[in-house]
Amino acid sequence: MSVAASIEVKGWCPGALRPMPSGDGLIVRLRPFCGAFSLAQARGLADLARRLGNGHIDLTRRANLQLRGLLDEHMPELQAELGELSLIDLDAETEATRNLMVAPLAGLDPSEKLDVRPIARVIAEGLAADRRLRGLPAKFGLLIDGGGTASIAAERADIALLAVDAGIALGLDTPAGTHWLGATSPDAAATAALAAARAFLEAAGPATRLRMRSLSAGDVAHVRSALTPMLQPCQVALPTIGRRLGAFGGAVGMAAPFGRLEAEQLHGLAALAEEAGSAELRLSPWRMVYFGARNDAAARRAIDVARCIGLIVDPGDPLLKIEACPGAPDCKSSSVDARGDARRLAALAAAQGHGGSIHVSGCAKGCARSAPSELVLVGEAGRYRLMRNATTRGAVERIIGTDEFPALFEGSRDG
Ligand code: SF4
Repeated sequence: MSVAASIEVKGWCPGALRPMPSGDGLIVRLRPFCGAFSLAQARGLADLARRLGNGHIDLTRRANLQLRGLLDEHMPELQAELGELSLIDLDAETEATRNLMVAPLAGLDPSEKLDVRPIARVIAEGLAADRRLRGLPAKFGLLIDGGGTASIAAERADIALLAVDAGIALGLDTPAGTHWLGATSPDAAATAALAAARAFLEAAGPATRLRMRSLSAGDVAHVRSALTPMLQPCQVALPTIGRRLGAFGGAVGMAAPFGRLEAEQLHGLAALAEEAGSAELRLSPWRMVYFGARNDAAARRAIDVARCIGLIVDPGDPLLKIEACPGAPDCKSSSVDARGDARRLAALAAAQGHGGSIHVSGCAKGCARSAPSELVLVGEAGRYRLMRNATTRGAVERIIGTDEFPALFEGSRDG
């Protein structure tokens, strides 16, 4: 049976060892180790995207990278080359469990309380070593943050670790956001995080699709009781600076429009990072790429060149206000060119002074964004369902065609 034909189940995520079919061929997701790709890895991925895929590369909201447009018959070659780049896990289950986001400036940020990468490495090793943890649900994830700038601590993860004055705080995801339980020492933080994952599995049971935030009160109490002996009470104040763009404090951050890089842009990013004195590209849940710069002049030059190769470096760029999934032709669920139409909408919104959030989705699944947006357009038979202050499953105001886009923003400047 072909790879594509063997994969029709939902509720799992694609990996290098477990590709997922999409409208433009197979998708392979690469999870960077410790949140970073070396420049050799980045260049190798750009070459593979161009040679074996369709050249499109997605940055995901879980700080991963996806190659698109791959074919069944190319998978053995692709996987062999990924192995040469040290980007292949032992097996598909080990790969699927390694859902760990690391603060993108870890080890580069003078304002961080702790370089958390050593803790992240121990957690990744622990996830791979404990076969019981392979029963974690596909989207179950952890994050670890050093408490500095470009902090990811406010992002959602089933288990969160944050460097605080008292050590490393551990939090669990709840419907109201992360609930911080207490702190442990940096040396014990990985052990506590892995204990939290095991306690979740004990509470939720094997082969569960539950997430930490969907556990019953009794099951949450089980997880907490397993962790209580490891934690001391602590105060947690979330770092105030999350997503950052442009040049700042010895690093640079750049966004790809709608999270889509082309192979040449990834090559360009690797060249910029090398010229700026960095050996890595760091990924983030904001679909932005970061790297260190040896000085302000190197950072500014990197920003100037990044702008020229089509990356977003200005926090006021209208494309940052709009989310769009790939749509047609990449995704077979869509009848509309979601990203092409989103670019038109972004230009119209900026021209009319509309500053609100916009979400353009090829279908109601809403892959690009799960939270509500002010203006939501969902593809249907070549037109769009229009909603306001809603998710993609909100109440439909009316059906519109692309010729009605300009009218959507009339009066925005006055309002
Ligand atoms: S939202 Fe629908 S059309 Fe867009 S990528 Fe997801 S499944 Fe495809």
